[in-house]
Amino acid sequence: MGRVLIIGAGGVGSVVTQKCAQLPEVFSDIILASRNLDKCKKIQEMCKHPIQVAQVDADKASNVVTLIKKFEPELVINVALPYQDLSIMDACLETGVNYLDTANYEPPEVAHFEYSWQWAYQKRYQEAGIMALLGCGFDPGASNVYCAYAQKHYFDSIHYIDIVDCNAGSHGHPFATNFNPEINIREVTQIVRHWTNGKWVESPAILDPKTVHMSFNYPEVGPKESYMLFHEELESLVRNIKGLKRIRFWMTFSENYLNHLRVLQNVGMTRIDPVKYEGHDVIPLKFLKSVLPDPASLAPNYTGKTVIGCVFTGIKGGKEKTNFIYNVCDHAECYKEVKAQAVSYTTGVGTMTGAMLMMKKIWKGAGVFNMEQLDPDPYMDNIAKYGLPWTTVDWKKMP
Ligand code: NDP
Repeated sequence: MGRVLIIGAGGVGSVVTQKCAQLPEVFSDIILASRNLDKCKKIQEMCKHPIQVAQVDADKASNVVTLIKKFEPELVINVALPYQDLSIMDACLETGVNYLDTANYEPPEVAHFEYSWQWAYQKRYQEAGIMALLGCGFDPGASNVYCAYAQKHYFDSIHYIDIVDCNAGSHGHPFATNFNPEINIREVTQIVRHWTNGKWVESPAILDPKTVHMSFNYPEVGPKESYMLFHEELESLVRNIKGLKRIRFWMTFSENYLNHLRVLQNVGMTRIDPVKYEGHDVIPLKFLKSVLPDPASLAPNYTGKTVIGCVFTGIKGGKEKTNFIYNVCDHAECYKEVKAQAVSYTTGVGTMTGAMLMMKKIWKGAGVFNMEQLDPDPYMDNIAKYGLPWTTVDWKKMP
């Protein structure tokens, strides 16, 4: 039994809130707060168990502190945007409350995300005796836990990891993103990095003709073109999975998505610096976000599946072997349960599972943690139980 404050009433926030409200024995009192109160109220109506709602501008730590003092939660779940990570972490520090998020901090004016800003809170969180759990969605999130689980149960030492993320679904729009368009486009237009033999290696961004891609044969959905991308969990996994020789992240993109994005980039619509328009400063990417479909609105007509997992090659008992741990999630099934598409659902269920383990004190500690630093077993049991079953199979070593 415990009180939780959820910040952010978007696609992911809706799933996290509904899933938490399905478990009143763990999350007895829930308050959902966001910039726009009406969005909170819509989610409130969908919850199986009554919840409270509030308006908050989480860019200001003082606003979050006021809300925390009023509601007195044991845990704050941040499913707003990466820009709010530090102000919410500050508020948790000031009030002595545990913190959880799904995406690492990114300054609004630079399209660059990394953990350094949040890892810098380590000593202060330790001294305050509170816990921050970073990257608790699906990838990052479940993907990190798959790595910890493989390390604990399948290998003496893991040498190669390839995280593969496939959305083989169809939403029927000419162009849309599956999570916040601004954050998504900032992420996928960056220079690609992967880690090999102790070093970060750069390669061209996904829109460049020289970008690195391959066809990967995903279970249940078949072969799909997958593009190498930099993703935040690589940064923590390199630190925490000992003996790694290489780690890469791959995501599927359709030709249609890439063509639209290429045009938008070429005409300057993905810029994040202000441009003058009729005397006003306008940031083209923020304007673009306002005309693209809201990711949550894609859900009613979404069909098809997501397949996300990790391919590991390593040594067990002196022999090399390769395993693939993955989840398959069906967009339409997610809609039936919580009126969401599978990208919000996989993230939200991953978040609720981590939050539940923190509320039950199964995952506990003082300081700042990435997911793979905690015992993977209770997470793997519970994420399967609450909507995202996983499978392990033997696989071929990745080239
Ligand atoms: P949305 O844009 O749908 O939702 C974000 C919500 O946060 C919106 O309701 C927004 O309010 C609210 N918000 C934004 N700024 C503030 C603020 N200053 N104060 C209070 N509320 C604010 O995004 P998603 O739900 O798609 O994504 C949420 C988070 O999840 C993102 O950080 C994203 O990167 C992350 N994510 C993580 C994944 C993972 O697997 N780890 C996968 C997918 C997403 P408003 O409605 O007014 O805009």
